[in-house]
Amino acid sequence: MKRILVTGGAGFIGSHLCKRLLNEGNEVISLDNYFTGQKKNIVELMDNPYFEVVRHDVTSPFFVEVDEIYNLACPASPVHYQYNPIKTVKTSVMGAINMLGLAKRIKAKVLQASTSEVYGDPQVHPQKEDYWGHVNPIGQRSCYDEGKRVSETLFMNYHHQNDVRIKIIRIFNTYGPNMHPNDGRVVSNFIVQALKGKDITVYGDGKQTRSFQYVDDLVNGMTKMMNTGDDFVGPVNIGNPGEFTILELAEKVIDMTGSKSKIIYKPLPSDDPMQRKPDISLAKEKLDWEPKIQLETGLKKTITYFDELLKENPNIV
Ligand code: NAD
Ligand code: UDP
Repeated sequence: MKRILVTGGAGFIGSHLCKRLLNEGNEVISLDNYFTGQKKNIVELMDNPYFEVVRHDVTSPFFVEVDEIYNLACPASPVHYQYNPIKTVKTSVMGAINMLGLAKRIKAKVLQASTSEVYGDPQVHPQKEDYWGHVNPIGQRSCYDEGKRVSETLFMNYHHQNDVRIKIIRIFNTYGPNMHPNDGRVVSNFIVQALKGKDITVYGDGKQTRSFQYVDDLVNGMTKMMNTGDDFVGPVNIGNPGEFTILELAEKVIDMTGSKSKIIYKPLPSDDPMQRKPDISLAKEKLDWEPKIQLETGLKKTITYFDELLKENPNIV
């Protein structure tokens, strides 16, 4: 049995990861400040005596004895990370320093949840790990993109300078149950809008693309990465290479929910990447990992989740 710290443990991905790690027989500590996470996501785990919950902000140091740290604390939706951009930078940078300092002191392995946003609005397609990216350092998304890029830098520096055992994964757009209904990301927005019969808000002309990964596939990739030997530190892309336009996603959601919602067009936010698709050959080679869940299967599970949530709490959004 390992003792594992998950920062951002009450968030969308963190809650799935905590559940998986507990099911595998580990002791798990969730650390969260509940900015975008919810206790509801982890309430079913709270009866488990091997699960501990801590309210804490990663921008302040935290001391605990653990074997592994998954560093997920950071808002991921553009709406939420742009709400307080200075805090987003602090969370990424100071959070990384605090978790790396902890890992160094207690000799724990530490995994950073980095992002496809380090590639910015990519000029290389699909994106491979050796692509340096195309990021606007002063744009609306920079607090998140540059924050995550600095955290990768810090991880590499602590590894080379202090021999900290690190792992970096670059996560591509992920969706599934436990996303916040007001999260603002495209999959949850479209499903909630369709289920409520509201207009589906496509930003821009909807021709921009994303590659959508179901959360269970991501959790498989994350845990596989943590369990590789110390010599492979990444960064490694974890995403589903299936690429869809946002308009295709809107049509699929309308079709699958049988909704009467209409598509409306709203202005494209600035610096919104035009295309995104992971090259996952490194993950296949090093982790023997590839995603198994196709978009329709994952959407079906996610639609069922939001359908039940909205029936229980019709006024939630
Ligand atoms: P989320 O917003 O649901 O979860 C983030 C969690 O971190 C929340 O529970 C939030 O309350 C917590 N948090 C935020 N700031 C904190 C702070 N200062 N101290 C402590 N806790 C804090 O988002 P998510 O989709 O679960 O993303 C988890 C991680 O994965 C993030 O680091 C994100 O950047 C990364 N990621 C996610 C995606 C995706 O598509 N979901 C893609 C790329 C990277
Ligand atoms: N998007 C949209 N309507 C929405 C929410 C998002 O058209 O209601 C678009 C957004 O402009 C972007 C894509 O969907 O092009 C993915 O947005 P999301 O916020 O989910 O993630 P990210 O842009 O960070 O990949």
